[in-house]
Amino acid sequence: MTFEADIERVLFSENEIRARIDQLAGELTRAYADRDFTVVSVLKGSCVFVADLIRRIPIPLELAFVAASSYRDGTQPEALDVIFPSGNEIQGRDVLLVDDILDTGRTLKRLRYEIIERGAREVKTCVFLDKPARRAVPLQADFRGFDVEDLFVVGYGLDFAGRYRNLPYVGALRESVFQAAGDRRGAAPRA
Ligand code: 5GP
Ligand code: MG
Repeated sequence: MTFEADIERVLFSENEIRARIDQLAGELTRAYADRDFTVVSVLKGSCVFVADLIRRIPIPLELAFVAASSYRDGTQPEALDVIFPSGNEIQGRDVLLVDDILDTGRTLKRLRYEIIERGAREVKTCVFLDKPARRAVPLQADFRGFDVEDLFVVGYGLDFAGRYRNLPYVGALRESVFQAAGDRRGAAPRA
């Protein structure tokens, strides 16, 4: 049995994702038509999205990565362990910061601020998914793929306990998977 049996329902199919990314890539191509820019992908979640996205943007760009892991133990909601690209990948550059999902907004807000501090000329944000219901800080993505309801989703780069990133679509996990992991994430709305 494959791990696809753990998926309760598909929210965005491979075809829907492909079609939306074509549109999004068109928007970005127009927005950055006459500019050199650097795409900064937030690891690990945005790796699948960014790989598909940049291959549909037929203009010069550079690619860099930032790694951000958050500690969500309830005590330090905003603590982020961040590994940045080298200064010359950012200084004076127009940066497009790409993440998998915009949830509370804390991660992107912090990364955006830090990248500006490191000398970027401009920072715009692009997210594959947006969960507006969960926003805790005022932040809107400049570009986004889909709005998603307040569910914990996996696939297309997004994980649960490190797994499911390689699903080619986005889905909601079965409640039994969260329970088996001792995690109530899928059940009640989170705080
Ligand atoms: P924020 O700082 O906006 O609350 O958190 C964004 C990060 O939380 C995302 O980059 C992602 O790693 C994680 N996240 C938020 N919602 C979900 C979700 O529904 N599924 C998964 N797999 N990760 C999520
Ligand atoms: Mg992430």
